[in-house]
Amino acid sequence: MGKDWVDFRVVKQAVSMEMVLGHFHIDWLRGSNHELRGRCPIHKGEGDRSFHVNLSKNVFNCFSCKKHGNVLDLVAALDGSTVRDAALKLKGIFSPEGNQEGAQHPPGLAGRNDATAEPEVINPPLSFQLMVDFQHPYGQDRGVSRETLERFGAGLCGSKGTFARRFIFPLHRESGELVGYAGRSIDDQGPKYLFPPKEKGFHKSHLVYNLHRVCDLQSRRQPYVVVVEGFFDCMKVTDAGFPCVALIGSSLSVRQEELLTKCFSQIVLLFDGDAAGRGATEDCLRRLGRHCWMRAVSVEDGVQPDQLSIEAIEEILRPVVGDRESCEVEVVEDSPMASENNQARGEPDEPVNLELPKRITRRWLQGLSDEDLRKVEKQLSEESGSYQSYDHARVLSDQWHRAYDELLRRGLVVQKQLDQAT
Ligand SMILES: [Zn+2]
Repeated sequence: MGKDWVDFRVVKQAVSMEMVLGHFHIDWLRGSNHELRGRCPIHKGEGDRSFHVNLSKNVFNCFSCKKHGNVLDLVAALDGSTVRDAALKLKGIFSPEGNQEGAQHPPGLAGRNDATAEPEVINPPLSFQLMVDFQHPYGQDRGVSRETLERFGAGLCGSKGTFARRFIFPLHRESGELVGYAGRSIDDQGPKYLFPPKEKGFHKSHLVYNLHRVCDLQSRRQPYVVVVEGFFDCMKVTDAGFPCVALIGSSLSVRQEELLTKCFSQIVLLFDGDAAGRGATEDCLRRLGRHCWMRAVSVEDGVQPDQLSIEAIEEILRPVVGDRESCEVEVVEDSPMASENNQARGEPDEPVNLELPKRITRRWLQGLSDEDLRKVEKQLSEESGSYQSYDHARVLSDQWHRAYDELLRRGLVVQKQLDQAT
């Protein structure tokens, strides 16, 4: 086993939350029994009770920035690294593999039954490929060009087995390795979509569909991306000429959040016109908006982006991405990821031009009293616009997020309707 080999399960069993908190000098958390609370060390917000650690379950959760998970997730969030890098780091610091019976196990955690253990490797590369028939009309009947279907490798499965006679989409890691297929039923037989089994280490929540074709971490030549829910949405938007990735569903996982904010500085959301799509839009605006310049485009009720014509997609996306040249900077918070991005650009002291949503509609603030509404509108309008100093922008965006989080908490934010979204 090489030095880069790491068993997530062993690390999680051997390293406790106390050990991680100690290592990062997070000494301000207070609480009783197995529950600690305090200011969040990840998003560094003001709320002095937003961050919770459960010592008996060895997990953490921030009610404000929504980061949560085990010791690996915590280190990844604190370092702005991948979970794998976090595991390697913990292995290096605490060398758990040599200490499985050792004194580093806090008493009470030693016999813990870790039922949520991940497999050793998440989304291991696939050692075979399925035969794909690009001649089958299903994809083009859904309005995707033959060229895009071939580029995405999507078509009817010509191999025997689970995916036989299904319309399949190859799934890749961000680094480009094939890790499995998704198979859609085209004759209403069986479930609509099939994915590889979790027992084989497959987790779709760790994938962003089409990311490896769109993201170039080295050059960052592609600053913006359109994020959609499904495979056909993604191919259709690609056909319309926009760089696009899909969440493979309507929920944004912590891993997907990390991948998207690492690869892009500007994100446009184009989700389905239903409750799930609107919920996902809210969630993504709030979470990704801490790191990226964001826009959300809503489609009519009951409509999915892949049902729109190429012309209609162009029409709704062009105005939104068209003015991106005037929005120079997107980094809105002093996160590990943000400062890393800034250093990578080699221009930490450059003035920046930060744009926050300019117009807050009444629909968006439904439920506020008139007096509260005026207060919030005043606050938000004062904090919108362009700022010429990085620190200024950071402070204002922090205030904006706090106001927004408060509205969310009170259930008052209904829908975020941006200028060109309609
Ligand atoms: Zn937090």
